[in-house]
Amino acid sequence: MSLDGRYDADNIFAKIIRGEIPCVKVFEDDQVLVFMDVFPQARGHMLVISKTSQARNLLEAEAKTLGRLIGATQKAAAAVVAALKPDGVVVTQFNGAPAGQTVFHLHFHVIPRYEGEGLGRHGEGGMANVEDLKALAAKISAAL
Ligand code: 5GP
Repeated sequence: MSLDGRYDADNIFAKIIRGEIPCVKVFEDDQVLVFMDVFPQARGHMLVISKTSQARNLLEAEAKTLGRLIGATQKAAAAVVAALKPDGVVVTQFNGAPAGQTVFHLHFHVIPRYEGEGLGRHGEGGMANVEDLKALAAKISAAL
């Protein structure tokens, strides 16, 4: 999907927000949801999304939405650093399929990095064990 187009209300993150498909939550309020990426590129990989905006990407996002999202992204990054003690943390965000975007509901990736451990390829990792994700999410949310 290019940068042009319309928001698809049946995209996977919209379904997660509506509770139609499960996710492992780390944090949520009335505006934002932080949950574990089920195909993690590293241990503790999280996604930060707006629960109210229909922006598909950064270019479409309202300033207020961006403010809430980046605030939640910072909060998630601080919590994962405190909980899992990575050596670094990467924040990424993709706009349009040619840029690597696969889900067309604006989101930020928060990916901890560990010295000596390579980063899994974006969109090509295996599916994580849900119990492992729940344990990680509990640890991270306890550090919020
Ligand atoms: P994008 O490629 O659009 O930047 O990122 C989409 C992300 O969503 C990918 O990292 C992918 O692993 C993740 N993802 C795709 N489907 C699901 C799902 O059903 N549940 C969760 N938790 N993550 C998903």
